[in-house]
Amino acid sequence: MSKSTTSLPFPPARGVAVQRGVAGRCPVCGVGPLFAGFARVHPVCPHCSAEHTRHPVDDGPAYFTMFLALAMLVPGLVVVELKWEPAPWVHLLLGLGLTLAIVGLVLPRLKGVFLGIAWSLDSDGPPPSAPSI
Ligand SMILES: [Zn+2]
Repeated sequence: MSKSTTSLPFPPARGVAVQRGVAGRCPVCGVGPLFAGFARVHPVCPHCSAEHTRHPVDDGPAYFTMFLALAMLVPGLVVVELKWEPAPWVHLLLGLGLTLAIVGLVLPRLKGVFLGIAWSLDSDGPPPSAPSI
């Protein structure tokens, strides 16, 4: 990708940065991919060179994802047990499948939200490799 000399507003507006993060795009430029895998963040945006390691968001998204998964699954599995009394292996498959589905859907998006908020609150100014498109 090529870079132009147009500077981006820095820090990005919170709503815009969060939307970009949820979409899996760099919260600073909105063009470069945010993730290099399932939920591993690119250390540096391949498009605008924003250093995402400047805002480590390792545990926050995982904590909220686990909280959300448990808040949704435990009551649901209790209702299933009380209503249908399935075999334990059914509970295991149901709980494991739903847990994987919830984590797969929620964790990358929450990581994007956290990074978007972190970039929008950045008060240190643009990094030395100032993002531009
Ligand atoms: Zn970028």
